[in-house]
Amino acid sequence: MAGLRRKPRARRYPALSQEEEGKWKGPFVFILGADTQFGLKDSYSGIAEHERTWKDEIDWAKVAVKAANEMRPKPRFFVVCGDMIDAFPGTRNYDEQYRDFKTVFDELDNEIPLICVCGNHDIGNQPTVEGISKYRNSYGDDYYSFWVGGVLFITVNSQYYYNSSLKSLRDVQDTWLDKQLELAAIAKHVVIFQHIPLFVKHADEDEHYGNFPTEERSKMLKKLKNAGVRYVFAGHYHRNAGGFHGNLEMIVTSAIGFPLGDDENGIRIVTVMEEKITHEFVSLNEIPKSVEDWEGCIRTCYC
Ligand SMILES: [Zn+2]
Repeated sequence: MAGLRRKPRARRYPALSQEEEGKWKGPFVFILGADTQFGLKDSYSGIAEHERTWKDEIDWAKVAVKAANEMRPKPRFFVVCGDMIDAFPGTRNYDEQYRDFKTVFDELDNEIPLICVCGNHDIGNQPTVEGISKYRNSYGDDYYSFWVGGVLFITVNSQYYYNSSLKSLRDVQDTWLDKQLELAAIAKHVVIFQHIPLFVKHADEDEHYGNFPTEERSKMLKKLKNAGVRYVFAGHYHRNAGGFHGNLEMIVTSAIGFPLGDDENGIRIVTVMEEKITHEFVSLNEIPKSVEDWEGCIRTCYC
């Protein structure tokens, strides 16, 4: 059991380097979830901070972890696209919610790395140096890249773009991201994970709480398109959504925790094939144990 006992450092994830995982070895599956957000249900209901519990969120996350452990073929990793817990750093409940998140996800199979993505609740809507330092102690680096089976995965800290008050840190991430994208030429696919979606339906939609600010959005879309990136996964919206901008697909996934729209809580099962990446959202009570004979999934490429 690993979970948060293994963390990204120096912008890399242990044992998932280009040297170790840079070559395509055939199709594989990974699990994508978002917004476990321990504590949101009670905070959303207006319950006072000192009276909040997060028993439901713990149970929902446990279902997802157990399903990932039992799934065959084994998922290559489990990514949580941000907002692991609800309490902002430095506020009441942060330490307890973090402890409980760690306890639940430390039960993940040792062969299923936990990939955490930095969300607004994890560092604060207006990120601070202290919040980021706390994040790095809790979860490891707030942005990093890793390789699995010839595919380059890049996690981005979207909060630096949503709120640019820490411009110098955003610029460092930007320079690093440019370097990572140069590797696109030798990767089978390049996949971006971030918390806040670039857009939830259309690339030209108005900016709001649930998407990227317009100017940052168009800069990032241009950068990713120029690098040939076709897949960007995000959470934050607590609903399923997304759309295309040219060849680039923006995939927004409902919460593992408390949902805020019509979609139930659940996870997305992502299948990586040589030519393309497909994905399907399943609610927590209908996660399949086997994805080998799952229609539309990896059977088509194993046959
Ligand atoms: Zn969020």
